[in-house]
Amino acid sequence: MTVTTERAIPFFPPDLFDGDRETLLDALYEVGTDPEQKFILGRRTARFEEAIRARLGAGEAVACSSGTSALTLVLAALDLGPGQEVIVPAFGCAPLASTVLSLGATPVFADIVPQTMTMDPEHARTLVSDRTRVLMPAHMFSVMADMPRLRALADQAGVRLVEDAALAQGGVLRGRPAGLWGDAGVYSFVQVKTFGMPGEGGVALSEDTGLADRVRMLRNHGQDGRNRFLHHRVGHNSRFDEVMAAFQLHRLAGLEERLARRAAICSYYSEQFRDLADAGIVAPPAGGDGRFPYVYTLLCEDRDGLRDHLAAEGIDTHVYYPRILPEQPAFAPHARSDGHWPRARDAARRNISLPLYPHLTDAHVEHVAAVVRAFALGRQP
Ligand SMILES: *Cc1c(COP(=O)(O)O)cnc(C)c1O
Repeated sequence: MTVTTERAIPFFPPDLFDGDRETLLDALYEVGTDPEQKFILGRRTARFEEAIRARLGAGEAVACSSGTSALTLVLAALDLGPGQEVIVPAFGCAPLASTVLSLGATPVFADIVPQTMTMDPEHARTLVSDRTRVLMPAHMFSVMADMPRLRALADQAGVRLVEDAALAQGGVLRGRPAGLWGDAGVYSFVQVKTFGMPGEGGVALSEDTGLADRVRMLRNHGQDGRNRFLHHRVGHNSRFDEVMAAFQLHRLAGLEERLARRAAICSYYSEQFRDLADAGIVAPPAGGDGRFPYVYTLLCEDRDGLRDHLAAEGIDTHVYYPRILPEQPAFAPHARSDGHWPRARDAARRNISLPLYPHLTDAHVEHVAAVVRAFALGRQP
């Protein structure tokens, strides 16, 4: 630990990449002094894409400049546009709505399943119309969405399934990795994600070679990679950075170990919080399938009370989405006026996330759990 005192436990640790400082400096020097002078979409990016693809057993992996951008390009490659609708969860991050709107299409917000905080397939079913083109669920915090039922719904409705797996790298459901359940899926490599890096980046995954080729074309101004200055489509700039590719190639080797440490912390938390439901604190659902150790999120009636109590003990927490998407000033004008999302609102009111990162010490983890327990049990009638 660098700037933290012994008892202070940050939510966003300031030393996330300290162990790989030399690797980053080496990558910077190597790319910067390479006679090729190629800083984006070079051979390191190609190797990184292949490493990600092979590790997952995916058909195609296309590295993009962010998770948001990968999602936008996937939707653009599906020719999404005005007059068309995409069903997205009402609880989640802004890109779920903004990527759709940026292409002139309309997000239609579905409510969530209370304990998993992911899109409710039953509610989504009632929202399908003849304008629906895509179903776009997102995995949330540490739980994958109900992909088998969402896949079935997409097939029945004759629409495409785009999987926002931006935060779910490491998750596997029924033997199939997060990101490979949809017609396309995306991961994000932004700092805090399970395979985060000190910069912006993401990847689009697909079994569909045609779709992946269109994403590749769109990420570099609609060019095909062979004919420079021949623009087949109205493209974007979403190119991947060579320094980050070199850094991530190096860090891929330790990913399994970091995921395992995160998962062990989640298990400990879950064990400690198992009996707190009556005291108003609900832990993520138990069980390993379809789970990934990104963020450990509790639901608590007295969320702000718990937050203050932890803060007084030097424990930093985070509230991810205090306001649901259809009630955001940017998206409300595009939401159905008769929309009703009681469970999404409930999650927005009650969610609170605890510190979770691989270099959190056992003592820190035990301290966090003990303080949560003390809060819950101290308030029991
Ligand atoms: C992080 C995240 C994104 C966006 O990824 P960026 O790389 O930050 O653009 C999209 N969807 C979800 C669910 C995310 O968690």
